[in-house]
Amino acid sequence: MGHISEIEMGRYLDGTLSMLGRMMVKHHLSNCPKCAKELEELKKDRDDLKMLSGLIGELDDADTKSFSVTSESVTSYFNTENKEEDET
Ligand SMILES: [Zn+2]
Repeated sequence: MGHISEIEMGRYLDGTLSMLGRMMVKHHLSNCPKCAKELEELKKDRDDLKMLSGLIGELDDADTKSFSVTSESVTSYFNTENKEEDET
């Protein structure tokens, strides 16, 4: 077995790796500072991503609220447009 791939590291962090896979990763990490460092960096990246997606999630909530207010006027605008087309 060579070095641990990023996919395997991702699964290891997600906890979706099999028991045997986790054991192999742990064993490899204890013998390979290079992969241990890579895993640390990947973990950090994921934490940043998690924080970022949390922020985006909050923004999405705000957007949805303001959009639901404006969407009514938009819908009525388009309804009027359609009505005119139907009559023509
Ligand atoms: Zn390695």
